[in-house]
Amino acid sequence: MIKTSYDIAVIGAGIAGASVAAELADHASVLLLEKEELPGYHSTGRSAAMYIPSYGPPKIQALTKASGDFFNNTPPEFCNTPLLTPRAEMLIARGDQLAAIESFMQHHSTIQSVTEIGAAEVLRRCPLLRKTYPAAGILDRSGSDIDVNSLHQSYLKKFRQLGGKLAVNEQVTRLQNLPGGWLVKTNSASFTAGVVVNAAGAWADEVGSMASAESIGLQPKRRTALTINAPANLDTTSMPLVADIDEAFYMKPDAGNLLLSPANANPTPPCDAQPEELDIAICIDQIERAFEIEVTSIVRKWAGLRSFVKDNEPVAGFSAQADSFFWLAAQGGYGIQSSPALSRYAATLILGNSFPEDLHAYGLDATSLEVKRLGC
Ligand SMILES: Cc1cc2nc3c(=O)[nH]c(=O)nc-3n(C[C@H](O)[C@H](O)[C@H](O)COP(=O)(O)OP(=O)(O)OC[C@H]3O[C@@H](n4cnc5c(N)ncnc54)[C@H](O)[C@@H]3O)c2cc1C
Repeated sequence: MIKTSYDIAVIGAGIAGASVAAELADHASVLLLEKEELPGYHSTGRSAAMYIPSYGPPKIQALTKASGDFFNNTPPEFCNTPLLTPRAEMLIARGDQLAAIESFMQHHSTIQSVTEIGAAEVLRRCPLLRKTYPAAGILDRSGSDIDVNSLHQSYLKKFRQLGGKLAVNEQVTRLQNLPGGWLVKTNSASFTAGVVVNAAGAWADEVGSMASAESIGLQPKRRTALTINAPANLDTTSMPLVADIDEAFYMKPDAGNLLLSPANANPTPPCDAQPEELDIAICIDQIERAFEIEVTSIVRKWAGLRSFVKDNEPVAGFSAQADSFFWLAAQGGYGIQSSPALSRYAATLILGNSFPEDLHAYGLDATSLEVKRLGC
């Protein structure tokens, strides 16, 4: 018989839900509910798979740096292949964008891995660029590719090994806060749980309203990507991710192909995001202006949602309005690279444990990501 009563129900089995569920399962009975058949179907399966500690707002940078130790020293029982493969990030600027280089360097002057480089070095590192395009660049040597599928599947495996129950094709449709805890109704079943964790990605505000919690003002934004064949005879192994300094486009090697994105951020309601032809056309135009590349055919194209609140930092904390309802949302474009530290952060608060010293050392505390800061 299927168990129907749990200490904790986590809604959403993308990287946020899978990682926090794995952190919780050693201490509580945990149910992980996912509306799709495949847990990585939405944002988690559609990312550019980069780990860039200097990317994102301050608390995201802190969480990303705090995740570095886990990524680099992954316990073999969690995953026995490397989760990170070094890939530098190179920001490039045309002559009219040099002020942006100066401003970036001012804001990142304490990061040792970040250095300003001249046009010749930019061209040496990415021979595909048009010779007349870059005027200067910035190299961040601390970047890496993340094996997102291994990371996500390893969290789900750890969760199951610790006795957690993953239920797919189970869309939460109703949440009722009863005296003894939450009644969680899905399209096909009912469960009870003492605590509900809202890790529903772009749908987090919708799930919040089912629980009569505050709205966090979550805004999903569509980002498009495509892959093309890399030019023959080009060794892309050590080529960096190349991004426009104003984040107008980026390109990175991807398993023998090149991944391109117009770095768009189009506001949209939560949905199964699809690539729009206009975004693809803009992307190809930008890429062909900057690189000696003619895009004649596309191997694959897709779009995914990056969801933000007003300060672009994630939300991890209990609701002020709905008892025992925990928000884990708004990871924006950084939810993979920050997931090891963010899931530990969230699990600590959910379990009421003392705050981890190593996260303190990165300037984080139990209120850093609270809902209250949003004034909602
Ligand atoms: C093009 C692109 C590039 C990106 N590149 C990077 C990158 O390089 N590095 C990085 O760190 N991040 C990147 N990101 C961001 C990253 O993908 C997200 O921050 C992260 O995947 C968010 O994870 P999540 O678990 O919150 O969301 P999701 O993966 O969307 O998971 C939420 C889950 O909740 C489920 N759900 C929703 N409502 C319900 C319900 N009512 N009942 C049950 N289940 C429900 C959904 O089906 C979904 O599976 C990128 C994103 C995009 C789109």
